Amino acid sequence: MDGLLADRVALVTGASSGIGAATALRLAAAGAHVVLAARRLDRLEALAAGIAGQGGSASALPLDVAHDADVAAAAGTLRDRHGRLDILVNAAGVMLLSPVAEADPAEWRRMVEINLIGLMQVTRAVLPLMPSGHGHVVNIASLAGRIANPGASGYAATKFGVVAFSESLRRELVGRRIRVTVVEPGVVVTELQEHVTHPAARATLLERMAAVESLEAEDVAAAVFYAVSQPPRVGVNEILLRPAGQE
Ligand code: NDP
Repeated sequence: MDGLLADRVALVTGASSGIGAATALRLAAAGAHVVLAARRLDRLEALAAGIAGQGGSASALPLDVAHDADVAAAAGTLRDRHGRLDILVNAAGVMLLSPVAEADPAEWRRMVEINLIGLMQVTRAVLPLMPSGHGHVVNIASLAGRIANPGASGYAATKFGVVAFSESLRRELVGRRIRVTVVEPGVVVTELQEHVTHPAARATLLERMAAVESLEAEDVAAAVFYAVSQPPRVGVNEILLRPAGQE
């Protein structure tokens, strides 16, 4: 425990796995109370117990970011339990790849509802709880929010959307001194790749992943921690991190 985030309350969505889980661990190790949100409550409870076992503080909050009623209820729970929120990390997301001509529109909708609208709704719902002067929103976009590869149109559309939303939000919140950071990782080894159903898109992805040493979730968590642990005068607007071997 390094104590840099002592007395801070952080909400991490997508905390049941991958980047969200690693980020939750990193923020808790720095002394924040971390509210762990996702759909799989058993995973969240296990992570909360692990954090408590290391001397940290965390609680589980079941949340489907694609359900407006869930989002509103989660914001209400945060208000009742903590009265405020200092750090929001929006990490919940899904990646469903396929060429446009063979895409399942239901997969496009799912990505838009989770990766983009869900992130926007969670942000909107918790903003009233953020104190002016030291609130911080961190949105996990992707390298796919900067470079749109063939076969990733729907996913890239959501991540370009997250980058645009984050920049507009950042400018809106400057007056309240609430900071906004967008993090854009290249390939990270997590469960994200497991959900791709299109066989050729999946094969291409696995080939790309085998060609370079991927990032680990902890590398992205370290980037998030860097952004949120800077002095209040420092606004880290954007962090783009690729595996060192990726072109
Ligand atoms: P994982 O699949 O390991 O984690 C995704 C998380 O999102 C899980 O905790 C999952 O929890 C949660 N989630 C999915 N749908 C919902 C929902 N409807 N409501 C709430 N939570 C949801 O993948 P990553 O950790 O890799 O992904 C985290 C973020 O990082 C995503 O936004 C992804 O796009 C982004 N990213 C990932 C990269 C990579 O290569 N892995 C690269 C660049 C960006 P549950 O199922 O329990 O709800």
